[in-house]
Amino acid sequence: MPELPEVETVMRGLDGRLTGRTITRATLHRPDLRWPIPENFAASLAGATVLGFRRRGKYIFMRLDSGISALIHLGMSGRMVIDAPFATHEHLTLETHDGGRIGFVDPRRFGALDLIATHDEDTHRLVAALGPEPLGNEFTGALLYVTIMDRSSTIKTTLLDQSVVAGIGNIYASEALFRAKISPRRLCRSLGYGRCTRLVAAVRATLTEAIAAGGSSLRDYVQPSGELGYFQHAWKVYDRTGQACERCPGAPACAGIRRLVQTGRASFYCPLTQR
Ligand SMILES: [Zn+2]
Repeated sequence: MPELPEVETVMRGLDGRLTGRTITRATLHRPDLRWPIPENFAASLAGATVLGFRRRGKYIFMRLDSGISALIHLGMSGRMVIDAPFATHEHLTLETHDGGRIGFVDPRRFGALDLIATHDEDTHRLVAALGPEPLGNEFTGALLYVTIMDRSSTIKTTLLDQSVVAGIGNIYASEALFRAKISPRRLCRSLGYGRCTRLVAAVRATLTEAIAAGGSSLRDYVQPSGELGYFQHAWKVYDRTGQACERCPGAPACAGIRRLVQTGRASFYCPLTQR
């Protein structure tokens, strides 16, 4: 499932391919994804010029010169393909005046497409309740501390709460906790200000590294298949159960990365250095 770095990378790829272009044709191949798509969606995109893009959490806004933004959510399995042949499960096709072809492909259909006035983006029902952007100035150790200090839930589960901080999913929650040396089992109310500060720094560093690994130019963002923005990242703990922990080679107490299930989601951690 795409998290903030993947969505950011997809958005940068779309930006490189669509900003400044006019959409000559927009074709919807079904009326709904997770929710119904507005009936005027395709008609609102056709003829419009793309002014730019903005990401909020895992949501992308494509801003048009008509004052309308198209909200794009990749959901569980959504992806964008550039100049590729029509694909199975392609639900939206955009064609641009310079011959570009962009497809939105989503086999599981947990994605979303919607329209909203650009100046009302932050009031959209899917983004209105989102917490701060983890890479923005608002997300600080002090803010995290006051947000979670009274919670009885674990920090791992809480990092997945999009109202606490936007855009983090199961992969980056585990990776950031490893970097911060905080156990996924630790209760929010026992974190304290110091650990909150350490965790915010770790979240920022983890996401920044992942975005950088996604590439730095449009060419990097487009894979040979035409797919935008997904990349193989070298996780330190995620999905590495039983594998050697890079932080404690040879330490008997850390016999490798462990897995734990919390509220139905797997967490991965070093049993020695995360407290
Ligand atoms: Zn370890």
